Amino acid sequence: MWFDTHCHLDFAEFTSHQERYNELFRQHNIARFFVPSVGPQNWQLVLDLASDTHCIGLGIHPCFLQPLIDNQSLDRDLERLSVLVLENRDHVLAIGECGLDKRVDIPISTQLSVFRFQIDLAEQLKRPLIIHSVQQHHNIQASLKGRQRDNLGVVHAFSGNYQQAKMLVDLGLKIGVGGVITWPTAQKTREAIAKLPLDSIVLETDAPDMRISGRQHEANSPHLIPIIFNHLATIRSEHPSTLAEQIWENSIHLFSG
Ligand SMILES: [Zn+2]
Repeated sequence: MWFDTHCHLDFAEFTSHQERYNELFRQHNIARFFVPSVGPQNWQLVLDLASDTHCIGLGIHPCFLQPLIDNQSLDRDLERLSVLVLENRDHVLAIGECGLDKRVDIPISTQLSVFRFQIDLAEQLKRPLIIHSVQQHHNIQASLKGRQRDNLGVVHAFSGNYQQAKMLVDLGLKIGVGGVITWPTAQKTREAIAKLPLDSIVLETDAPDMRISGRQHEANSPHLIPIIFNHLATIRSEHPSTLAEQIWENSIHLFSG
């Protein structure tokens, strides 16, 4: 049984071919899903997906901040986020995705204040954070210093070196391992993930994005998780069945509230 800890099942790729995908998930034994949101435009869509098999998160993704800044609605949106999370606290099992992205043309100071708001919200509700970090691992660490707790959240779609990964794990974060490790160019990330403590690793696709090497001409989807796992198994020292079992446990623990 597999748990895809980060997939955007509310995106059109999935909602418009729901039956076909559900069949693929059954065939490949994909039993659990975590669906994050990116901003006000999909909070309700994601909430509607919450079920026994689908856990969900609400948050504001740094790459989706610009329209909120342009509309001058950011403060109201953050307020609404708090209200929605509190009203739906039984279903909202994480805050995110949220974080920092160097490629986005929004000052890091603005991104940081939105991220810190969500860190406070997660702390208040004792929910894990789903963190998006692109070339910002140092600022993620600085923002979370002093907030260490068991199950602080996950840095999803991790790409980086061992030192960075270890620094994040030491804060109480898990590392989301996705399609990155399937690419020949990702040697540094593979080396990092090979050495991490086993209880810090979860698997994800970030579907429909983050394509997988060899399958780059099709949309990414949770049923491709076993391909990512096979790559992981070649770089880890554990027996594949031990690895698979522990990763399932880690994923359940991450969203256990
Ligand atoms: Zn994502």
